[in-house]
Amino acid sequence: MSAFMANHGLSGNIMTQSIESIESFAALQLPAPLLTALADVGYETPSPIQAACIPILLAGRDLIGEAQTGTGKTAAFALPLLARLDLAKKVPQALVLTPTRELAIQVAEAFQKYAHHMPGFHVLPVYGGQSMVIQLRALSRGPHVIVGTPGRVMDHLERKSLNLNRLSTLVLDEADEMLRMGFIDDVEWILEHTPKERQTALFSATMPDPIRRIAQRYLREPEQVKIRSATTTVAAIKQRYWQVRGADKLEALTRMLEVEEEFEAALIFVRTKTATVDLAEKLEARGYEAAALNGDMTQGLREQVIERLKSGSLDIVVATDVAARGLDVPRISHVINYDVPYDTESYVHRIGRTGRAGRTGNAILFVAPREMRMLKAIERATRQPIEPIQLPTRGAVAERRVTQFKQQILDVLGEENLDFFYEVVRRMESEENVATRQIAAALAFLAQRERPLQPDGVDVPEYPAAPPRPERPAFAERTERGDRTERPAKAEWTERPPRAERPPREAREPRTFAADQVVRYRIEVGRNQGALPKEIVGAIANEGGIEGKLIGQINLFDDYSTVELPSLPPEVLDILKRTRVRQLPLKIRVAEVGEGDVRRPPAKPRWDKERVPARESPRKSPWETQTQERRPASAEFPSKPPYRSEKKPKPFGKPADKPPVKKRPY
Ligand code: ADP
Ligand code: MG
Repeated sequence: MSAFMANHGLSGNIMTQSIESIESFAALQLPAPLLTALADVGYETPSPIQAACIPILLAGRDLIGEAQTGTGKTAAFALPLLARLDLAKKVPQALVLTPTRELAIQVAEAFQKYAHHMPGFHVLPVYGGQSMVIQLRALSRGPHVIVGTPGRVMDHLERKSLNLNRLSTLVLDEADEMLRMGFIDDVEWILEHTPKERQTALFSATMPDPIRRIAQRYLREPEQVKIRSATTTVAAIKQRYWQVRGADKLEALTRMLEVEEEFEAALIFVRTKTATVDLAEKLEARGYEAAALNGDMTQGLREQVIERLKSGSLDIVVATDVAARGLDVPRISHVINYDVPYDTESYVHRIGRTGRAGRTGNAILFVAPREMRMLKAIERATRQPIEPIQLPTRGAVAERRVTQFKQQILDVLGEENLDFFYEVVRRMESEENVATRQIAAALAFLAQRERPLQPDGVDVPEYPAAPPRPERPAFAERTERGDRTERPAKAEWTERPPRAERPPREAREPRTFAADQVVRYRIEVGRNQGALPKEIVGAIANEGGIEGKLIGQINLFDDYSTVELPSLPPEVLDILKRTRVRQLPLKIRVAEVGEGDVRRPPAKPRWDKERVPARESPRKSPWETQTQERRPASAEFPSKPPYRSEKKPKPFGKPADKPPVKKRPY
């Protein structure tokens, strides 16, 4: 057995390929259109579960795949399914069952992405809550792949609107979740009602008995693939994690880099080649000396990057696992797992890049709530607890800046010849009759322009504290210190007619608002999710019963947007939290200070370094690319409440009727 197989606990006869050949998708003998699509999305190498499953599924065998969330299971089944499709036959040839509609949509999107160069390919997500009429129409168009939740798929089979006679492959994705959610009977029913000679693949993070029984009963001599985590002892590395919430990862990263005490150089891990370039560029735009390191770069270029990191002309390298393999640069004080690793082993490899040559190392892991399982697996595998960290507060950032500022002054006093400047100060003292201390304070004020030193001036928003583990609470509502400026003391909301006579919600009467208070709210859809201002206006107007003209400025950012609205009462907030745009709940909340600001220049993190005057860069600063949507003048709030609309807000298309377009951040 190869080391690879042993490490991943793969069962015997399946791994016939050498470890080298598994490092490319091409070696897995996927057809060219799929390889092109994978290059488009920037996947460098197959993840372990993909390397193991793709050959099995391509060979038409049944499979049981046991692996945690985030290990890349979707591509592990989607790629071989796509490779085996006959596009000329316009009938469902593959069915994927998922526990939730979100997953159905995600998986369907993944299919779409991987099939980008397969013209005529058609995948259809079907799930409860979506209009039957629309689904029936879509089904009649003959999709090749159906991705659906068990209940709805069963419905269609019973109504005969879905015919699975020509089905060749069935995938049970997240089987344990389906069990947990009580769908197991439906799943069995579907298994009974599909052709017996089909290929079946079952994926699950765990293997409880009922799932094992299903596998025994319905799978034929399945190959088993299990991505097991070997236990390893990790050297003296301080391991911490941050649960991604509130802030986006980039914001969190730059803030952490700013306050980290022992920071010298960082190696940041992301999943894709594209992400290495994107993130390196974003960090450069924020003043860091950063570069990408990935498998697309020539050996020469890669060596150059490593040399620059060693010599100190680079402080941050953003890399994929493969490109950073074996990297030995003692300067690396921090390893940041910006995207979670596929397995505990690659985590151990990653963090082994710091703490070298007897130095202390720091590892920080960013985990989304849905990836908390991976965190636990890592703790088990490394037999070490990983400490949670909070995003540094504004006060902490300010304090750190003041410390650095003082140090910079001391350095200048120690190193520079200041005779000329002493003279300038002396003349100023006598001519203007001001004290040295006053001059010094004014100079400090001038010097801090781009990196404010006072906590109030620090241009970073405050975010809610992370919840204690292992909870996964809904979006938190307040900050640690509760010091937000835009939040009104009390929601002012006058309702007419009075509560008792209020028409039922369905009537969606426009509400009346005390509009003298404009509050900026944050919603969790942005440009990356394809949200359009008019959709946001439509959803808020329609679902919240707020007149369009009361909806003020909307600013779109990559992963969120801000909307100016009259102060909303809790009932309306509740509705709008659940309201969806582009399939995503808005999770509306009052924006933090600074969220939604578009004109603020980026902070210059390396102010203590000599900075070259702003270079002419063809690249736009991230701030310039932000869209500002000014609503027409009529959208400004008039000054006298209350306002009633003459016409009802226009109904807004049901989110479920829209094609899914959500883009995942990878
Ligand atoms: P799982 O189903 O095991 O939870 P997913 O299939 O949802 O995992 O994949 C998690 C993320 O990893 C996705 O964003 C996906 O695009 C990304 N991913 C999957 N395979 C690869 C790969 N070989 N290289 C880079 N990223 C990948
Ligand atoms: Mg999955």
